[in-house]
Amino acid sequence: MPFYEYKCKDCGCNFEQLVSISEASKKQACPHCGKKNTEKQLSVFAAKSSATSFTAPAGGGFT
Ligand SMILES: [Zn+2]
Repeated sequence: MPFYEYKCKDCGCNFEQLVSISEASKKQACPHCGKKNTEKQLSVFAAKSSATSFTAPAGGGFT
């Protein structure tokens, strides 16, 4: 199962949760405040796994 990163809109914290694909789109309870006012962020691991075909500029090339 992949890790997904969530952001809690109530307390503003970010947390990672190990969830199945079918559960990923559901709201996860925040470990800090226990509320489910959370939003799924882009998966860090998914971004890493596709890094071979997509490489983001590391040094801020748009500045
Ligand atoms: Zn919270």
